[in-house]
Amino acid sequence: KPRVIPHKENKIDLRQVSPFAVSVCKRLQEAGYKAYIVGGAVRDLLIGHTPKDFDVATDATPEQVRKVTRRAIIIGRRFRLVHVIKGAETIEVSTFRGLTAEGVQKDKNGRVISDNVFGEQYEDAARRDFTVNALYFDPTSGDVLDYHNGMLDIRKKRIRMIGDPQIRYQEDPVRILRAVRIASKLGFTIDPKTADPMTQMQQYLDNVPAARLNDEMLKMLMSGAALQCVDLMAKYKIEVHLPIFKLLMRERENVFVRKALDRCDARVRQGRSISQSFLYAVLLWRDVESYVEKNSNAKSMTQCWEKAAAEVSHSPVMVGVQGRFINDMQEIWKLQPKFERRGGRLPFRLLNHPRFRAAYDFLLIRASSGEVPHELADWWTAFESASEDDRHIMIQEME
Ligand code: ATP
Ligand code: MG
Repeated sequence: KPRVIPHKENKIDLRQVSPFAVSVCKRLQEAGYKAYIVGGAVRDLLIGHTPKDFDVATDATPEQVRKVTRRAIIIGRRFRLVHVIKGAETIEVSTFRGLTAEGVQKDKNGRVISDNVFGEQYEDAARRDFTVNALYFDPTSGDVLDYHNGMLDIRKKRIRMIGDPQIRYQEDPVRILRAVRIASKLGFTIDPKTADPMTQMQQYLDNVPAARLNDEMLKMLMSGAALQCVDLMAKYKIEVHLPIFKLLMRERENVFVRKALDRCDARVRQGRSISQSFLYAVLLWRDVESYVEKNSNAKSMTQCWEKAAAEVSHSPVMVGVQGRFINDMQEIWKLQPKFERRGGRLPFRLLNHPRFRAAYDFLLIRASSGEVPHELADWWTAFESASEDDRHIMIQEME
């Protein structure tokens, strides 16, 4: 039933495939099971990107997977699956899911809340969201198995839902956000039949647990295409009832925020990471500034910034965010006024501050959006890379 694309045609570069994922597949295959690398990893390999993580699909049950792999734990979130672990790497192994209605639980809105019925490989393929996410790669033979014409859509650079988009969005409204994120990240278009119901179906997002929506929002912001995600959500009039979403839409046209997201995107695409604290610092920056402006007659500026940071941290956006991220975010803000004091020992102290890097990156964005003079950012760039002696000279010149 699937179309088989042999290795000489699919040209997947085996050097981009995790050796550990390959060995997990081989172990399963040697034990007599089917095992394929599947999902986003295959999609990325076919485009020539190095996948960030690898998923494996198999006809072995979670218990059988555990028997043939060394370090494995069965985890049960929405689906039961196995995490096979080696060092810092985790491969997610899931058993083919079936299409049968029994075993599938839905809520009153038609949203699937659990399904743990195992099935055939073709059923597993049909249960995935987009055609480009339903390709199976056998690292032993090099074949790609294609059940839904995903290869064509990869070539046409488009995101197309498997099955009836409206029904698939109802089963799991997060697919609306996934379509936006994956299309943005890959630079693909969303096929009209897949895109058309998104606006109408977004109301179903209200029934999705906030934690899952929040995870998806963070994934968008860290996808390397955050700006495009934000613009697409506005285009499709998608609304997510979460404080972070409202803030993101409020700040969508803000020059500073756009510059910042653009830089974050470039950073992710270079394979570097961005921290949650930096993102929150960016999104709430305008609130900090306006607090400081309103209270600029305070006793001391340091106190004023302290209060601003504390006050803005009470934003509903920060509810549930880990304390250390909130701390780091506050440090990024509170270091900003210190960049303007370039006399005495202060610049040295700032340079040695544990959050100097993040705060300096933040300053560069402020400079590029015209909030502070370029001269200030350039001075710090020079100061940071200067020798100890030159640093003293630079400070003397300022005094
Ligand atoms: P990323 O590059 O962000 O990891 P991904 O496509 O790999 O993208 P995952 O969340 O890692 O996304 O999911 C792995 C695979 O599981 C997907 O490629 C898809 O086949 C399937 N999948 C994930 N979420 C859903 C969903 N909500 N509905 C249907 N299939 C899904
Ligand atoms: Mg993935």
